[in-house]
Amino acid sequence: MSYCVAIDGPAGAGKSTIAKEIAKKMRLIYVDTGAMYRAMALYLVRQNVPKDDLDKISEVCEEAEIGICYENGEQVVYLNGENVNPFLRTEEVGEMASVMSTLKSVREKLVRLQRRLAETTDVIMDGRDIGTCVLPNADVKIYLTASSYVRAKRRFDELTEKGEPCNFDEIEKAIIERDHRDMTRAESPLRKAEDAVEVDSSYLTITQVVDKIVRICEEKKKGFF
Ligand code: C5P
Repeated sequence: MSYCVAIDGPAGAGKSTIAKEIAKKMRLIYVDTGAMYRAMALYLVRQNVPKDDLDKISEVCEEAEIGICYENGEQVVYLNGENVNPFLRTEEVGEMASVMSTLKSVREKLVRLQRRLAETTDVIMDGRDIGTCVLPNADVKIYLTASSYVRAKRRFDELTEKGEPCNFDEIEKAIIERDHRDMTRAESPLRKAEDAVEVDSSYLTITQVVDKIVRICEEKKKGFF
C-alpha cells in the first residue's frame, strides 16, 4: 500500500510551493493535478475554442491525451506527446482550466490517471478534490487556505517582480471568481473533506507551513489523531 498526502485548497494558497518542499523532506513524489487540467486547457486555447462554448470544449477535449512522467523528481506533463510544462502557468490557461474542469467527462479521465499514479507510488498530491474524491482514503488530508487579499497580494508581488504590469483589484476579483466557480460546480466542487486538517497560510511563512504539515503527518503516523 502506498502512502498518500492530499492537499486541497483555493487558487494561490501556496499548495504547489508547500507540496514540493514537503515532497523533498518526506521523500514523496509531488503530483500537481492542476497541471493536468491546465494541459488540457492549453489544447483548447491553442485550438481557439471559446471559453463559453461547453459543448465544443467537451468535444475538443476528446482529442487531448495527457501523460505524466517524472524526470529528476520533477513532474513533466505531456499533451499528445509534447512536453508542455513551459506553457501551463499563464492566466489564460488557468482561466480555461477552471471553466473546463467543470465537465464530468474531463474529470473522469484525469482522475483515473491520478489514482493510477497514487496506487504504486508514495505521493503528495495537490488539487481541489483530492481528499474528497480522488484519494478518499489518503493517509493525511490538508485543506490549505489563505484570505483572498493575501492570495492576491502574493500574485501581485510575483508579477511585479517579473516586471509584468498588473492591477491588484483585478487580480483579487479574478481569484474570487475562480474560487466561486471551483466551489459551486456540480462535479467534485472544492470543499474541505470532513477528515482534513485546515491550515491557514495567510500569516505564516513557507517554512512555518511546511513544518506544520510535516508535524501533522508525523503525529498522524503515531496515531495522535
Ligand atoms: O491549481 P491550478 O491553479 O493549477 O488549477 C487550475 C484549475 O484546474 C483550477 O482553478 C481548478 O478549476 C482546476 N482543478 C480542478 N481539480 C484539481 C486541480 C485543478 O478542478 N484537482
